[in-house]
Amino acid sequence: MSIKDNLKNIKSTLPKQVTLVAVSKTKPISDVLEAYNAGQRIFGENKIQEMAAKYEALPKDISWHMIGHVQKNKVKYMASFVSLIHGVENLKLLEEINKQALKHDRIIDCLLQIKIASEDSKFGMTPEDASFLLQSKPFSELKNIRVIGLMGMATFTEDENKIKEEFQLLKHTFDSLKPLESFNFKPEIISMGMSGDYQLAMACGSTMIRVGSSIFGERNYSI
Ligand SMILES: *Cc1c(COP(=O)(O)O)cnc(C)c1O
Repeated sequence: MSIKDNLKNIKSTLPKQVTLVAVSKTKPISDVLEAYNAGQRIFGENKIQEMAAKYEALPKDISWHMIGHVQKNKVKYMASFVSLIHGVENLKLLEEINKQALKHDRIIDCLLQIKIASEDSKFGMTPEDASFLLQSKPFSELKNIRVIGLMGMATFTEDENKIKEEFQLLKHTFDSLKPLESFNFKPEIISMGMSGDYQLAMACGSTMIRVGSSIFGERNYSI
């Protein structure tokens, strides 16, 4: 099926409160344009250079989401245009994003990544760390970032019960942090669910799904 048909099929199953991020990492500009022409305006990338190159080449009404692990020294390459950074997992990174956002006289929206998977390879902070960060004095001084929710990635497994428990943990964490709302913590988004598990994620309260291969086809990392 075409990218356009894939998008249409997925969108037809989404409730109104769920936002679709089309994950275009490793895919060519032509594929992004095909999705764009089918009406998609939010795209996710996991490498800052690749996202910046696509930003330069493509229409400027696209919202670019950074969904990958962010290195501090690369924040400056996306600070002028990124619309949401999903994978923030410590105060130092938030401070750098704040600094770069200030240079561009803007506020950058971020999600805190919570480690819900049991695999060591997945990044993120514990719910306790997130709670501590959100109540800390240094956080309260960051005026050019806004934390608008949480992001998580479930364990790569066939075990649906395990995935469900992890998604429920993220939803529970979101609910428990909500009372900490402040001028720069405006919890609205729960970013969870990818091609293989977004239905389950939505059932567990996801409001933002990040779908790549079900839209663009399998990725080939060797080219
Ligand atoms: C690649 C990626 C996705 C999309 O994965 P698919 O299985 O292709 O849908 C979602 N989230 C993150 C963080 C990713 O790196």
